[in-house]
Amino acid sequence: MLSIDEAQRLVLCHAQALEATQVPLAESLGMVLAEDVFSDLDSPPFDKALMDGYALRRADLPGGHGELDIWPETILAGQPPGSTECPIPAETAARIMTGAPMPAGTDAVVMRERTSEIQSETAVVGRVLVNDPHLKAGQNIMPRGTEMTRGQQVLKSGTPIGPAAAGVLSAVGRVAVSVFPRPRVAIISTGNEIVEANENPGPGQIRNSNGPMLTALVARAGGSPRYLGIARDSNDELGLLASKGLQSDVLLLSGGVSAGDLDLVPGVLREVGVREVFHKVNLKPGKPVWFGVADRQRSQNSDLKSQISQPTLVFGLPGNPVSVMVCFELFVRPAIRRLMGFADAGPKTVWATLDEERSSKSDRPTYWPAWLEPNDNGLCVRLVAWKGSPDLRATTEANAFAIFPPGDHQYRPGDRVQVLCTEY
Ligand code: AMP
Ligand code: MG
Repeated sequence: MLSIDEAQRLVLCHAQALEATQVPLAESLGMVLAEDVFSDLDSPPFDKALMDGYALRRADLPGGHGELDIWPETILAGQPPGSTECPIPAETAARIMTGAPMPAGTDAVVMRERTSEIQSETAVVGRVLVNDPHLKAGQNIMPRGTEMTRGQQVLKSGTPIGPAAAGVLSAVGRVAVSVFPRPRVAIISTGNEIVEANENPGPGQIRNSNGPMLTALVARAGGSPRYLGIARDSNDELGLLASKGLQSDVLLLSGGVSAGDLDLVPGVLREVGVREVFHKVNLKPGKPVWFGVADRQRSQNSDLKSQISQPTLVFGLPGNPVSVMVCFELFVRPAIRRLMGFADAGPKTVWATLDEERSSKSDRPTYWPAWLEPNDNGLCVRLVAWKGSPDLRATTEANAFAIFPPGDHQYRPGDRVQVLCTEY
């Protein structure tokens, strides 16, 4: 049977970044830049004070200690550089606020807390006593262009846009950016026994967990979910809904991929033109997972320009909810990330210390819901009490999956195991 690694490789070799598009900066968070970005200015645009205090000449204060006249004008942030009558004469300090341009003639800022104004009823100009023993030229000043200079490349194509990148894009005047779009991911639940959450299950029926869960998983992975509903276990109904799903970049179906009489999904997918790449992977839970690719179906209102040559990636996920989750993390999320242009498609695994005794016996690599968290000794993993792949409730107490290799293994507290992360 196919190994997890081999299956992941097959998925990723069918997934390439989607065609780049412009989006408003406010919508770009979590997407990947599809262009190099250059600064249109120097930042800071002038030598900038980094503290509220006094701008002065280092040379006027040997040892950082002494009295200076106070310049009559206070320099505030937002004041154009050079608007002050300059240069500030020797033996004089100008009151200055954080973010204001340094006045000519000064070369240091002493923070307010290291100064005291000298009260005098007779003096014409105020005086300030400075006491800053470590006073150095350049202190508390950010010279023009320290952060970036005009024309400098500030972000590379392929960079994920996080909060800091969003701030930099705004600083260089970008209101729209070129990014790889969020893949449209169609989701279909299958099964005669499945009813929606707003229905009371009749005899033999259960409510639909996989539809809403996959919608959430897709959104968390960065994709744009489109839930298409429940298909009964009939070739016609499945075929109709699957064809509709093939208009998307990715199609996810849950249920109907095992060996049961009503597991019709692989046959129906072949009938609607999906070419099988693999069926069954050596893992637990999730062994029956199915993957194929299809030429893009044309939606009725799409124009020629939007016809993309990339195939639709089609995943038939096993029906049990925890199998769905494991297969999503191992195969679907990396595909979504690759379509979004992430160089690092995942999945993400780390090594962590097990906090309990445990035996594991299986012929397949096994994924066990677990809680992963850092403590003083590094990463620690605690297994949750779990009753198998239909037990989604227990998985609400997990944020990761501990991975047990095939074979007969005995673990002691403090042993290290590999863990699949789900929150990144
Ligand atoms: P199947 O592979 O279709 O035989 O499904 C395997 C198991 O998963 C069965 O017990 C199904 O009832 C269950 N199952 C399938 N789809 C869903 C769903 N959308 N929500 C919850 N359980 C499901
Ligand atoms: Mg079924």
